[in-house]
Amino acid sequence: MSPIELNQRQDKILQIVKEKGPITGEKIAEHLNLTRATLRPDLAILTMAGFLDARPRVGYIYSGKKTMAALTESMMNLKVKDFQSLPVVVSENMTAYDAICQMFLEDVGTLFVVDERSRLQGVLSRKDLLRTSIGTQAITKIPVHIIMTRMPNIVYCHKNDSLVHAAKKLIDRQVDSLPVVEEREDGLEIVGRITKTNITKAFISLAETNDL
Ligand code: ADP
Repeated sequence: MSPIELNQRQDKILQIVKEKGPITGEKIAEHLNLTRATLRPDLAILTMAGFLDARPRVGYIYSGKKTMAALTESMMNLKVKDFQSLPVVVSENMTAYDAICQMFLEDVGTLFVVDERSRLQGVLSRKDLLRTSIGTQAITKIPVHIIMTRMPNIVYCHKNDSLVHAAKKLIDRQVDSLPVVEEREDGLEIVGRITKTNITKAFISLAETNDL
């Protein structure tokens, strides 16, 4: 996902409008020794992307607003570490029953399962626990390591990753949450959690940024 790149002619158009705006398409074409028709696609792109404002009977003016390109750049600058939540971890031997209680107590939809060295071993979702609850197994006996999704099938991210990339992982893998991890010699240490709620909050914060 790269920001919009302008071609040389579009850059020149922006320069002209900055210096001489408001200015008609006709006049911009004259400056560039081109026909108005040739410029039409460039002007359309620059207007759509928010670089220029087209005012009827006045002409084009340079838009002071943040452009699409800059907006894309701001989005790519959002980092996992600035939006992550605290992870909720449980041990591999916790029973499904206790895991359900833990989910209610901590008010989360996903638990991360760790071994005795606190390294990531698995992920437990609401539906993993529901599936077990409606099955025949005794939920007060069955340990979570039997029913969790386990390594190496866990999708995770790092704190310096862009939030957009983390969001893409959530969507591509159709999961609600990613552990934020740091690599250690003996496995992955969980340092945070990214959920669809974090992504929604980031989306709101972008819209509320004053300099947009
Ligand atoms: P739910 O099952 O409550 O809808 P999810 O969509 O997050 O919640 O989980 C769907 C399945 O994917 C579950 O079996 C869960 O264990 C697994 N899962 C959840 N998060 C991850 C992840 N980050 N990596 C791999 N598997 C995951």
